[in-house]
Amino acid sequence: MAKKVLKFGGTSVGTIERILHVANILKKEFVAGNEIIAVVSAMSGVTNGLIEQSNSISKNFNKRELDVLLTSGEQATSALLAGALIDMGINSKSWLNWQIPILTEGEHSNSRIINMSVTEIDKFLLNKGVAIIPGFQGISKNGEITTIGRGGSDATAVAVAKIFNADSCEIYTDVDGVFSTDPNKIPVAKKINKISYDEMLELSSLGAKVIQSSAVQTAMMYNLPLEIRSTFTERNGTKIFNRENIDYEKSVTGVAYSKDDAKITLIGVLDKPGVAADIFEPISNDQINVDMVIQNISSDHKKTDITFTIKRHDLLKTLEILKHNKRIKYDEINHNDRVSKVSIVGAGMVSTPGVTYKMFRGLAEKNINILAISTSEIKLSVIINEKDTLEAVKKLHTIFKLD
Ligand code: ASP
Ligand code: MG
Repeated sequence: MAKKVLKFGGTSVGTIERILHVANILKKEFVAGNEIIAVVSAMSGVTNGLIEQSNSISKNFNKRELDVLLTSGEQATSALLAGALIDMGINSKSWLNWQIPILTEGEHSNSRIINMSVTEIDKFLLNKGVAIIPGFQGISKNGEITTIGRGGSDATAVAVAKIFNADSCEIYTDVDGVFSTDPNKIPVAKKINKISYDEMLELSSLGAKVIQSSAVQTAMMYNLPLEIRSTFTERNGTKIFNRENIDYEKSVTGVAYSKDDAKITLIGVLDKPGVAADIFEPISNDQINVDMVIQNISSDHKKTDITFTIKRHDLLKTLEILKHNKRIKYDEINHNDRVSKVSIVGAGMVSTPGVTYKMFRGLAEKNINILAISTSEIKLSVIINEKDTLEAVKKLHTIFKLD
């Protein structure tokens, strides 16, 4: 017997038929003798639909009321699922955020779960019933209804697993798990059986959107094992835990890419102390995140070029800031928003020499030009022209033996 938290995302509960299917999964786990807490999202599209409705009243819809509105999505699925189980002859009950209560801190639409009470639900589990908890919602110290950010049901599930001291936390979704790259674009992509928290964080922040990054961060902090698996197949999913639990046969675990980057080059800036700070200070003051920075070595010690990358939607604003920056001088400014970032991620890199040159050699063989490079302990990223993205991903996936 185990105490399990099972979380079901929007597509898993997207229709009444699917809710009945989820009820059957829960029934099976319950009949096998486990203590079950299910955390549910709103039916897919519901949260977006509610946001649209609020926007059609006002682009500045009251934040407090928006949270009250949005929590209704998860409220509906919780009741439908509990009702479905009861109809199948299984004792079940749903609770809303304030009934548990799930205590949060922070502003509306972006709160954090800080605690919740376990007594009543634990008692219910002991008396044999399936408990249903709505994801994404909470209540503040002042008694206001809050939400914890889009995709927040993952974070609710991790918090519930931690606070209820569960043996496992399974995230049910519409794919089989985490893949070595995007399986929709690269059919030879393979499901990863085991991955460490830090690799998962690199992959999800790079665009592999199967689980919310902040939920992985919390799980890592508490060393709480996660499993991502499909609602629609019986196949094993991807297990996420500490690096120590993994034997790294391969240097690279996955290849990720994102197509929302832009690159700016300042040509002919003075090569003297303080110039880089003068360039980047006003950019960061405007909350724009600079990703990679490259400064060429100047051959005459007078002038140099500085290239950096940012998110594409920040390009116009960044160019404006640079043009109005009276503290810097340069000959010319270039920008390119048709670039993408391709990254290889793997904890196995730490102990394998030669990964860097292999990546560069592979791209060269395909005649792909590298525009910028950045590295960290378990990640190597390059900026390339957007049109080369898929070819680059395919090549790297092959040379690092992931096909
Ligand atoms: N329903 C919320 C959203 O769509 C929370 C979630 O699905 O995790 O963002
Ligand atoms: Mg979701």
